Amino acid sequence: MGIAFKHALVTGGGSGIGKATAETLAAQGVDVTICGRRIDALDTVAAGNPRIHAHVADVTDEASVAQLYDAAQAARGPFDIVVANAGMAASAPAGRTTLDLWQQMMSVNLTGAFLTVRPAVDPMRKAGRGRIIFIASIAGLKGSPYISAYVASKHGVVGLTRALAAELAQTEITVNAVCPGYVETPMLERTIANIVDKTGRDAEAARAAVAKDNPQGRIIAPQEVADTVMWLCGEGARSVNGQAIALSGGEV
Ligand code: NAP
Repeated sequence: MGIAFKHALVTGGGSGIGKATAETLAAQGVDVTICGRRIDALDTVAAGNPRIHAHVADVTDEASVAQLYDAAQAARGPFDIVVANAGMAASAPAGRTTLDLWQQMMSVNLTGAFLTVRPAVDPMRKAGRGRIIFIASIAGLKGSPYISAYVASKHGVVGLTRALAAELAQTEITVNAVCPGYVETPMLERTIANIVDKTGRDAEAARAAVAKDNPQGRIIAPQEVADTVMWLCGEGARSVNGQAIALSGGEV
């Protein structure tokens, strides 16, 4: 695939899509700094993989992200790939969405993505190259019931992608969003447990209902998302900029 980049940041690299992405980039010879709030999860991913480096950082906290950049870049050089993947999902009917839930979604999914990427922009400009990739969601491209705060935060991420891509189009930096439907990760396990809890369906029926959102009738593998990130990092994708790439079997 020809990845010319040396150092990547993958937020939320301790599980799910972030883990698959970190391992895939590392397998191509990229040094990958992963971050999250749980050191045990990060250490498990980094264990035995000399190209993966774990740092505790909270993407909602500007100072924590600054410390992450300082430590990781001092050790391994500037980031030339940033994958803003950390996120969380919560559901509630719109009329019962509390301000707290709303602010949590915005803080992690949207402000966290902004804080993750902002410190990379000027150094990438100076270096004259880079890849910025947001893991948004199909919820960044369409509305769905009971997840208004999540949908709004992910639409915000797609907006941020488009704005940054327009601003950086004269450079060799590309900015894109990957927008998956349901992916087999711990986040999906929590979604299924929540459906079981709220509807009384069994887990198998809940999984089947979730899979139905995807016209292909399946749940996506984290590796499919990681492979899309990899492709965006290759030279062959240098003209792909400002795109929100749906990975959901034709759902939109
Ligand atoms: P996951 O396994 O729950 O991963 C989420 C990761 O984000 C965790 O490693 C978590 O680590 C990290 N994180 C959460 N809050 C954080 C914070 N404040 N600071 C730093 N890290 C934080 O779920 P996933 O499915 O892989 O999710 C990854 C991304 O894909 C999310 O943005 C999600 O919205 C998106 N997505 C998922 C699906 C799906 O169906 N699974 C579909 C579309 C899009 P800590 O808990 O250790 O902080």
